[in-house]
Amino acid sequence: MSDVNTMARPLAPWLQTQLESLLAQRGHAWLLSGPSGLGQFELALALARAWLCEAPAPQGACGHCGSCHAVDVHTHADLCMLMPETLSLALGWPLDEKTQDELDSKKRKPSKEIKVDAAREAVSFTQFTRSRGSTKVVLVFPAERMNNITANTLLKTLEEPPGAVKFILATEAAHQLLPTIRSRCLGHTLLWPDFEPALAWLQQQSARPAEGEGGAKKAARPAEPADLQTLLVASGGRPADALAWAQSVAPGEAAQHWQALPQAMARGDVSALADWMPAQAVDALQKLCHDVLALRMGAAPRFFSAEDLPATGKPGGSLYALASWSKELAATARTQEHPYNPGLMLESLVSRARQALNAR
Ligand SMILES: [Zn+2]
Repeated sequence: MSDVNTMARPLAPWLQTQLESLLAQRGHAWLLSGPSGLGQFELALALARAWLCEAPAPQGACGHCGSCHAVDVHTHADLCMLMPETLSLALGWPLDEKTQDELDSKKRKPSKEIKVDAAREAVSFTQFTRSRGSTKVVLVFPAERMNNITANTLLKTLEEPPGAVKFILATEAAHQLLPTIRSRCLGHTLLWPDFEPALAWLQQQSARPAEGEGGAKKAARPAEPADLQTLLVASGGRPADALAWAQSVAPGEAAQHWQALPQAMARGDVSALADWMPAQAVDALQKLCHDVLALRMGAAPRFFSAEDLPATGKPGGSLYALASWSKELAATARTQEHPYNPGLMLESLVSRARQALNAR
């Protein structure tokens, strides 16, 4: 995923504009919301970095001062990152000592939720004396991973933050937050970038060495614009998702794989999904199902090219079969977090896809 150099990268242009607009406004608590892949975490961190910076400009943090450096190496004493433990580990943000000990000694697994203990830590962080500058920041991401108890723990501090404490909550599901949390924050909805600037950004980013293990090797050969375009379309126009994809595999192969996916599913070829996590597979099938249905209804596909889609999308394909497949996939997407047997699950997903795509 990400490493400590991430923040040295310039923000994507559409995030930079949003950062400047947020910095120009007053507000001690922001709620940044929008679907995944638009960059709310990057924007949240850039905002925190600018608030903490010793020489901030209207464009954001200076990038050179001690405070900026401390944020970049994930050790800023006035920045509290309130995240699920799984995400802290993945993004390389330190956990508190007690948690780290418990995880090291394998007493328990890292939590996918934001724990109430962590929220209590965040509250006491806001009450300690400042150690560096005049501002402290609590960044909560993804805020929807707080259950009601955790959220309530934070609520009072959010209402009446002591001293110069500022909050940034970033979420991919604002509707899941307690209304009391939402009403304490100024809301900002992430803007969708237009396709062309998003593609230009993607080209620029994928030409840089990817961070993380083995990434640099993969980015050595520049990606073809056409392949990146396929991945951006496949990601529903969400540039951060497309970039993560382009950096995790060879973009050319990934694009070919995506283009061949509809026909592979129509043939019932399980190997086409073999390298994917169940959640990714379900997501891809939902996109396929969406596009085949769209085509069948006379609309344009959104994630695939029309010529790559099976004939079910044309008049004669069974609308009923596609609609029930769509419903089933939605139900699977809600419950697939822990499949009892991922291999078996993929097989049944593909067999179901084949059935729906061949129904007349
Ligand atoms: Zn600075």
